[in-house]
Amino acid sequence: VLRMESVRKTFGGSVVLRDVDLEVAPHTVTALIGASGSGKSTLLRCANLLEEIDDGAIWLDDEEITDPRVDQDTVRRRIGVVFQAYNLFPHMTVLENITLAPRRVHGVPRAEAEARARELLERLGLGGKAGEYPDRLSGGQQQRAAIVRALAVRPRLLLLDEITAALDPELVGEVLTVVRGLKDEGMTMVLATHEMGFAREVADQVCFLEGGVVHERGTAEQVFGEPRRERTRRFLRRVV
Ligand code: ATP
Ligand code: MG
Repeated sequence: VLRMESVRKTFGGSVVLRDVDLEVAPHTVTALIGASGSGKSTLLRCANLLEEIDDGAIWLDDEEITDPRVDQDTVRRRIGVVFQAYNLFPHMTVLENITLAPRRVHGVPRAEAEARARELLERLGLGGKAGEYPDRLSGGQQQRAAIVRALAVRPRLLLLDEITAALDPELVGEVLTVVRGLKDEGMTMVLATHEMGFAREVADQVCFLEGGVVHERGTAEQVFGEPRRERTRRFLRRVV
């Protein structure tokens, strides 16, 4: 679904991603782990063309999306993104938030967009919340609504950046349950996370980043169970 080849990203002279290769197969979950500042968010932002890369190439399915001739908006429409916090527009109800992009960007008729939104809300346990404003929802409910909004456009790929980081511990579980459910339905996802237990459980592929380099990658079992590199071991000892 997604392929990155020798991606390099710099910010004002400092290299943030160095020769990053990444291959995300359909219906798999890839977890990006690594210390703060290791480049996880930047990698996700590059994948969604929110950042321009300095070198290398990125493909979404068979299309090279870093080709300058590609229409970036069209690409972004095929990728759902959820960030750590502040995902919802505060002045719109949950239903308005969710149906905005399908209606405005994809031209889906209102009735159809709303039907799909209600079905997704139901599925993610937010059946009664369509008419509420975001500030009336708990953090976990807001994050689930943000996931619904990302799913509303039927994305090919879902990028999730620390979606539980801003949540109280007791609300983390409900959001992770949603991600688990999406995995079971076959959604392809790349997520940056500090929740190692969750990454271990849900990820098919784990990439450990350090200083913008993918230092180690493998199955969750391999990376967490028997890391090959000393730096990976050191990182995991610190955080697990
Ligand atoms: P965290 O776990 O804290 O979210 P991260 O792994 O997501 O960290 P990034 O946000 O990708 O890390 O940042 C990687 C590096 O790039 C950091 O050194 C950061 O300071 C730098 N960086 C990120 N965005 C910018 C920017 N817009 N301008 C300049 N430097 C940036
Ligand atoms: Mg980050």
